[in-house]
Amino acid sequence: MTGPGTNSYLLGSEKLALIDPGPVIDSHIEQLLSACGDRLCWILVTHTHPDHSPAARRIADRTGARLIGCVMSDDGHQDRTFQVEENLYHGQLLETPEFTLEAIHTPGHVANQFCYLLRGEGVLFSGDHIMQGSSVVIIPPSGDMSDYICSTETLMNYPIQVIAPGHGELLDEPQTVLQQIVAHRLAREHRVLQSLIDLGESGLDRLLPEVYSDINPDLLAMARLSLWAHLLKLEKEGRIRKCIDLHWAFGEEHWTLADS
Ligand SMILES: [Zn+2]
Repeated sequence: MTGPGTNSYLLGSEKLALIDPGPVIDSHIEQLLSACGDRLCWILVTHTHPDHSPAARRIADRTGARLIGCVMSDDGHQDRTFQVEENLYHGQLLETPEFTLEAIHTPGHVANQFCYLLRGEGVLFSGDHIMQGSSVVIIPPSGDMSDYICSTETLMNYPIQVIAPGHGELLDEPQTVLQQIVAHRLAREHRVLQSLIDLGESGLDRLLPEVYSDINPDLLAMARLSLWAHLLKLEKEGRIRKCIDLHWAFGEEHWTLADS
């Protein structure tokens, strides 16, 4: 699920900040330490999934760098080794003589996801809010589709010049990227509604091949999570409702259109 791997970013030349140190892979950690020398002062994480934050503790112990991020309760997908010295809040600034980073809370992929904007240059370090080459998985209950779309719209108000994702290459034309993300999610949501019209009352497994008929079948297990997030959003908005059909579902959650 990490594509070509997790991107770690180093900022500065005198005093360095490291964004998303990644997983505990010895060769990767040694490479980061050798690039930093004795200049590493801050380690920031975009969120605490196992491919983004576990190396933070090890690198902090070796360098004395300050750990900055947001810890959340474990939802079964968290790096539980991560502990912060500084818990992030929306709008928080890391100001150094060389650069200023602004923390932007972007819940959706997961509740504790933050992006960091390098002010002046307009580089947005997006973690897993935006990836290059694929859609981000939304994993309820800590992931939330409404929040994801709302966070993406919030990012449209920032002076972003380029997006530096947690996975994949840099993305130019950030406003286009952000608009495409929202449009893509709303188009998928439309397919969910259309599938409920076509199939009638349905559970996740019946909807999945209908709603995601256009993707690689290997990705369906992950898509199922995002489908669940779409259904929860639509239910919260009162556009669909949950029903239980014991006849053929034995209690499995099913949804139907609210007005049916
Ligand atoms: Zn993640």
